[in-house]
Amino acid sequence: MPDVPAQPADDAHEFTAAERALLGRYLTNLDRRVFALRNLPEVVKGALFSRYSRTEKSLRRVLLEEFLSEPAAGIALAAGAGPDDLVDVARGEDFYQRVLVGYGDDSVAELAGAHIAVEQVSNLAAKALEDSRIGISPLEKSTRYVRFDRRGPEGRFPYYRGQELAHTAYEPAMEALFVAYSEMVTPLTNRVRAEYPMEAGESERAWKSATRAKALDLLRGLLPASTLTNLGLYGNGRAFEYLLTKLAASDLPECRQLAGEMHSELAQVIPAFVRRALDERYGGPAAAYIAEARRRTAELAPRSRGTLPGSAAVRLVEFDADAERRVVAAALFPHSNLPLDELRGLDVDVDVVMSALMDARGNRRHRAPRALEQAHYTFEITANFGAYRDLQRHRMLTQQRQALGTALGYDIPAELARYGMDGRFRQAVEHAAGAQTAVENALGPALAQYAVPLAFRLRWFFRASLREVYHLCELRSGPEGHPDYRHVAQEMFRRVRDVHPRLVAHARFVDLGPADQLGRRASERRIDRKLAELRGQADR
Ligand SMILES: Cc1cc2nc3c(=O)[nH]c(=O)nc-3n(C[C@H](O)[C@H](O)[C@H](O)COP(=O)(O)OP(=O)(O)OC[C@H]3O[C@@H](n4cnc5c(N)ncnc54)[C@H](O)[C@@H]3O)c2cc1C
Repeated sequence: MPDVPAQPADDAHEFTAAERALLGRYLTNLDRRVFALRNLPEVVKGALFSRYSRTEKSLRRVLLEEFLSEPAAGIALAAGAGPDDLVDVARGEDFYQRVLVGYGDDSVAELAGAHIAVEQVSNLAAKALEDSRIGISPLEKSTRYVRFDRRGPEGRFPYYRGQELAHTAYEPAMEALFVAYSEMVTPLTNRVRAEYPMEAGESERAWKSATRAKALDLLRGLLPASTLTNLGLYGNGRAFEYLLTKLAASDLPECRQLAGEMHSELAQVIPAFVRRALDERYGGPAAAYIAEARRRTAELAPRSRGTLPGSAAVRLVEFDADAERRVVAAALFPHSNLPLDELRGLDVDVDVVMSALMDARGNRRHRAPRALEQAHYTFEITANFGAYRDLQRHRMLTQQRQALGTALGYDIPAELARYGMDGRFRQAVEHAAGAQTAVENALGPALAQYAVPLAFRLRWFFRASLREVYHLCELRSGPEGHPDYRHVAQEMFRRVRDVHPRLVAHARFVDLGPADQLGRRASERRIDRKLAELRGQADR
């Protein structure tokens, strides 16, 4: 850490010894101008910060006078009280509501956050929960490290079976997928281990982990979109508010149910921040608008029936013809005093400017500069739901998908055929395709999505800036990634290179190499090395 002298606080000498003792519980220091809040509930921290825009007082003084000394704030000052039991939420709710209404606009709801765990939800619901771009950070159980065939308390495989899915074709097809997955995992892992024996210098942990990940990667296409998963979301109140409203507008009853469940839990930790999410004045009408717009545009959208032509593909649908000029002008703009359009009109050597901008990048974590956001690309991607499931997690772009179905066909990993295990896989996914058609005919396309295995393809688009193209393609083309999304990332990169070779010449960390035979092997070895280093540090 750089050794810089701390700057003193303005109010360092204002507080009595008793006040210092009290404030000291909640602030990391009392005499410097930079300090962090601690041991305070989210709602207090959010309300405190919202005061910044409307007061001359220091934050320490606001905390002392307007919160700690204010009975209506409901703060229990008992020594040893932790953040969770510090505020009497029921008593304090009106107080915090008044603070937030009085001192800010909608953005004050970004000042408090919450962690929320959501368990036993379908992969469709998980995608809906992960759809936010700003303000929510999700993490989800991985199909690559965790087996998904553990039976629940009633001895049933883990897939969604809400009442709305009551159709005779549904459950037998789901059972067949899980039985195939479950019965194939062990023999397939053994085949993989026989083909990739442990190497000299490799730990048993790393080898077992890499080979198991490979087997689970090969089988994940069998898992249906109804597969239950667990995820954790960390986010701010404003983002949660919008997420709850969107969930309430969903055409899936599972998502609408989750909106209510999540709201009641969030209302216990950040009540003032999610109060409007589902109410009659704000959230309810906003959800009704989303649902109405979906219904009316769906009526207008043309659809063809039956099997659709087309295979897995990444198409570049649109790009800026003058992207080079735009990027170069934006690179020079902050250092120039000329207007942007004048810079765009200059005859500048693109390679020289791009080299100046990018040559010093040492690895993919050195972010490409913001000037690259001046060029945009629209990709239409047809790939399997497994790959979509991973790539949908990118937030610095605009994306929309079509309903998951079976008309675009499915992918089957070549290795399964090599191991002679493709027959079982095909049988199970084709059974599911039959069920999807039956459910769609009876209950409509939205609900029929639950029956579709991850192996089936769907169509979606990404509209991304060149900066995000660098990020996504460099991150997702690494050999440790799943081959399906790795292929999409490589194809996206190739499409941009076809039209703008000079702009992507500096994306040096995109890996266009062939599929790695045992993709996780190198990563697992790296983990071993890091673990050994940590053990070494602990021993010293
Ligand atoms: C090898 C690998 C394994 C993975 N395993 C799992 C897994 O097991 N479970 C799982 O749930 N996910 C997993 N992921 C997905 C991962 O957690 C990310 O969601 C995904 O890769 C999107 O990456 P990103 O956030 O860098 O990209 P984007 O969302 O495209 O964002 C681009 C950049 O913007 C910045 N940014 C965006 N949003 C925020 C934010 N809210 N706060 C701060 N900075 C932000 C970051 O610098 C980020 O790199 C895995 C990804 C990889 C590559």
